[in-house]
Amino acid sequence: MPPFPQAAHTALADTQLRSNLRHATHTIRDKRQRVVDEVDQWEALRTKGAQVKDDMLAHLDEHLLTLEASLTARGAIVHWARDAAEACAIVAQVATDHGVDEVVKVKSMATQEIELNEALAAQGIAAWETDLAELIVQLGDDLPSHILVPAIHRNRSEIRQIFLDHMAGSGRPAPADLTDEPRELAGAARLHLREKFLRAKVAVSGANFAVAETGTLVVVESEGNGRMCLTLPEVLISVVGIEKVLPRFADLDTFLQLLPRSSTGERMNPYTSMWSGITPGDGPQEVHVVLLDNGRTNVLADEVGRQALRCIRCSACLNVCPVYERTGGHAYGSVYPGPIGAILVPLLKGVGHDAQVDSLPYASSLCGRCYEVCPVKIDIPEVLVHLRAEVVDAHRDGWPTGMDLAMRATSVLFADPGRMSLAVKASGVANRVVAGLTGLPGVHGRSLPGGRAAIGRLPGPGAAWSDARDLPVPPRTSFRTWWTQTHGGRDETAGGRS
Ligand code: SF4
Repeated sequence: MPPFPQAAHTALADTQLRSNLRHATHTIRDKRQRVVDEVDQWEALRTKGAQVKDDMLAHLDEHLLTLEASLTARGAIVHWARDAAEACAIVAQVATDHGVDEVVKVKSMATQEIELNEALAAQGIAAWETDLAELIVQLGDDLPSHILVPAIHRNRSEIRQIFLDHMAGSGRPAPADLTDEPRELAGAARLHLREKFLRAKVAVSGANFAVAETGTLVVVESEGNGRMCLTLPEVLISVVGIEKVLPRFADLDTFLQLLPRSSTGERMNPYTSMWSGITPGDGPQEVHVVLLDNGRTNVLADEVGRQALRCIRCSACLNVCPVYERTGGHAYGSVYPGPIGAILVPLLKGVGHDAQVDSLPYASSLCGRCYEVCPVKIDIPEVLVHLRAEVVDAHRDGWPTGMDLAMRATSVLFADPGRMSLAVKASGVANRVVAGLTGLPGVHGRSLPGGRAAIGRLPGPGAAWSDARDLPVPPRTSFRTWWTQTHGGRDETAGGRS
């Protein structure tokens, strides 16, 4: 994948994509806001969610051992996977042991993260996605572009065409007279998937939560396909990130209120499935749980970044992000797009060795809306800034860059009141100099919102800087001077304005 700026450039040229994204993100965010406004104690609930997750992370090792013991006591087989390769090998081995060449899947970010479908395909095992949006993505040989709505970039006429062109290649074909009515599209998918549910011997899932106290795994979904996968096959394999553990069953109370309102804008989730190991004569009689690290312990070691492990994958941050709304998820080059992807991917993979990963912390305007809506109070802008510093540090080669020199000079200036005062006085001169530049050939002046003058494009090497930002003309009168002259605005006529 190309770095984010190049990928975003391509996405921005796709007007159909931008129209689909705008419609979908605004619909979901408005719905979320309405149901969140109904809850008087929403802020307290957010604080509680963050606290439970932080307490869990502080004792993650102990909770994981408790979870393993609870699961084992209820007949489940627990596997530990350090990375994607180990996790995929475990799942493939269980499937091979049962002699199957296909599995059905519940939508799961963890299995997408480890590229399980591709690993199983390499062993001759087909992995069928059963979530409607994931089915659309899989049939279209596409990539998900949203955590919750993976086919958000597709409209219904595109979906109809995908069904007509590709359903027959993997099972029951779509009806020849299929229209783009949502009811008909859902009906075609239902018939196509029903065959697979009834045939499959092995299912693969993730889990939204894993309760250490009781050994209970929880899957939260909206279509009922998850429940079919979790109950019909003989064997169930769940791939669970180690940060999904919750200490107590009672902790679910908080998260089952936070998650549906933040994700789909619903008061209650339609299908919440819970299972604790094996129940004789009911549901899968062989249950495997793969506890996945794949970089999570490195994230835990990062004092600023570890808050990302609180994430409950609700996608509220995507739906309010002005960058995501315009580029969509593919530009992020990962199964984790949007603001959470911009921090989680660099945290999981580490920075300094992949230009695409290093570009992600910059895929933000730092407006802070992601933090405001996050149900577990992840301060995404704080982590973005922290990661930007790490990216810069990772690329230092001993010689200071122009940016380093400018920052050092600024630091010298800001550290001393006398020097700062001189710089402030110089801003009036700078005003005249920069304003004068706008008259020069190759220099384009423009006006910023609010009417402040700016240089939109500098000539020569300065263009590298002004290509991505405007250079505001410094004010003729500094704030300090204005304050002194007007006594804090009480005498406006005494102060000049630029
Ligand atoms: S970072 Fe917060 S808002 Fe974004 S997906 Fe995770 S929990 Fe939801």
